[in-house]
Amino acid sequence: MSHTVVITGANRGIGLEFTRQFADEGWRVYAGCRQPEQATELNRLAADNAHVTVHPLDVTKPAQIQALKAVLGDSPVDLLLNNAGSYGPDGVRFGNTDPDAWLENMRTNVIGPMKMMEALVDNVATSRLRLIASLSSKMGSMADNGSGGAYIYRSGKAALNAVMKSASIDLAPKGIIAVVLHPGWVRTAMGGPNAEIDAETSARRMREILARLTPRDAGSFFDIDGSIIPW
Ligand code: NDP
Repeated sequence: MSHTVVITGANRGIGLEFTRQFADEGWRVYAGCRQPEQATELNRLAADNAHVTVHPLDVTKPAQIQALKAVLGDSPVDLLLNNAGSYGPDGVRFGNTDPDAWLENMRTNVIGPMKMMEALVDNVATSRLRLIASLSSKMGSMADNGSGGAYIYRSGKAALNAVMKSASIDLAPKGIIAVVLHPGWVRTAMGGPNAEIDAETSARRMREILARLTPRDAGSFFDIDGSIIPW
């Protein structure tokens, strides 16, 4: 029997590539995206593969999370992949931070993954692999911050790390392994054209890390080479 993954932000970038790779491996993929009617590449993937279904899912909208939960019912989810993320407005420097943009970013990058975990925890707990992974960033690491700036993105990913650390402890008794992954600097809309690796390489390496996880890894912050990133 194949495994099942739920992926947020599956219409482009790393999320689309995860969808492609898990589908190629024969996984059942529930691919969430904000505007399914505009998700041309994802819809093409789903048309070619009966194991991929596309679901409207803005992670800031509780009703859409609950609608996905209703589709899933009690069926097991081996991996919840909180991939969706937003950088927030460009050019945010000390002195011009916008509270509303900041809060909106937090709703996507921090509260969204939390609400996804709360909604799907029983599905993950009854699966064989019992994995939850959230895509964070080295930019959320205090230890790695040598250049300052990026207040909105850095604070959101640092908060996501804190959320995932707590969840890894709270969900361990259910046999769930919750981790944080840095995808590398990836050539997507967010990473830009000069980034170091393509989405195919990033997703493949993260899948390799996920495939090797044991309960001792719960609460870890993994770099793309499998090493641990200091908080
Ligand atoms: P992209 O900007 O290419 O894609 C972001 C994805 O997230 C899109 O599918 C977007 O949907 C979706 N999204 C944004 N907001 C929401 C929301 N509220 N609800 C649901 N989906 C949403 O980014 P990447 O693929 O590069 O990034 C994927 C993850 O990796 C992110 O969490 C990012 O922070 C992280 N990351 C990326 C790095 C890089 O170098 N690329 C480096 C470090 C971390 P839509 O099309 O509707 O906007």
